[in-house]
Amino acid sequence: MECPSENKQFLSVFFSNLKEAVKEKFEDEEFDPTGIICDEASCNWQAMQEIFRRDLVERSKSCDFHYNQSINRTKGKITTGDDDKEIFKTLATDLMEAITSPQYEKTKDALQMFIGTNENLTFLNNWLTWWNKRRAHWCYAFRPDHFAPGANLAEEERIEVGLQQVPNCSCPFKTKNPSKICMHIVFALLRYFDVDENSMLLHQLAYTKSEFNKLKNSLVEIRTNNESLEQSWILSRKEKLPGKIPNCSGCKAKSIMPGDLHIYVKGKIVLKNNIQKDVTFRFCPDSKCLKNILTWSNLKPFTCAFVDF
Ligand SMILES: [Zn+2]
Ligand SMILES: [Zn+2]
Repeated sequence: MECPSENKQFLSVFFSNLKEAVKEKFEDEEFDPTGIICDEASCNWQAMQEIFRRDLVERSKSCDFHYNQSINRTKGKITTGDDDKEIFKTLATDLMEAITSPQYEKTKDALQMFIGTNENLTFLNNWLTWWNKRRAHWCYAFRPDHFAPGANLAEEERIEVGLQQVPNCSCPFKTKNPSKICMHIVFALLRYFDVDENSMLLHQLAYTKSEFNKLKNSLVEIRTNNESLEQSWILSRKEKLPGKIPNCSGCKAKSIMPGDLHIYVKGKIVLKNNIQKDVTFRFCPDSKCLKNILTWSNLKPFTCAFVDF
């Protein structure tokens, strides 16, 4: 655009010109595209709100490219080592690719947990807050998807994929189209079964016995990353440590203050590409919180706690 800067005023002119031009060219037809893709600069969205109908704005999204660009830029600011850069990138990418809102929340928890491991990562909280506010534009679970008929995945409480010789999924799309493969099955194959993205398996409605056996053997274990390391859950009073006051990993709500009775366990955040990060998980001494274990962790279910005062 030939304008001095990209701001709301100039973008409004641009959008209204576009609207006018379409009207003129197509004889009074309303400019009513499927949606608009733009970047996250807030002036884009403000100008769209001014010029277009609300439903068009709601159908619009920002593109993966800008989110990824932001990941890479932010990654570059991490000073705590290459592993941390990789973890951030992996989790941030997973955040975008989350296809249900519970999956989004769990990935966000993992990211917050990771940020909490080092004071020098605290700046990432601002990044996360900023993108979280706009998640309806870029996260697969929330943004408009014109290729998945009818199914608003953000409203799906829980989708279950059954990987048998004939894979199945409980989502509305698969239920309506039993002779098609839904994205959840594809996702499960890629993420948990280490299937190559060029593999024909991704297109198959059923697997042969040998294909299925091979699949079963390649299941990527996320939670039981068989470490010989004994996990001890310890009931103790929280010590005074530098850095941010941690929240309970279970309820995520309660801050665990110095002196508070709590249960902690040393574990790891484990990502699919086997990148790991040592983390101390802290919980309220409450069975509800203790049952709520992060999916991305190597924690085994809580059975008993040792006492250490
Ligand atoms: Zn599905
Ligand atoms: Zn709690």
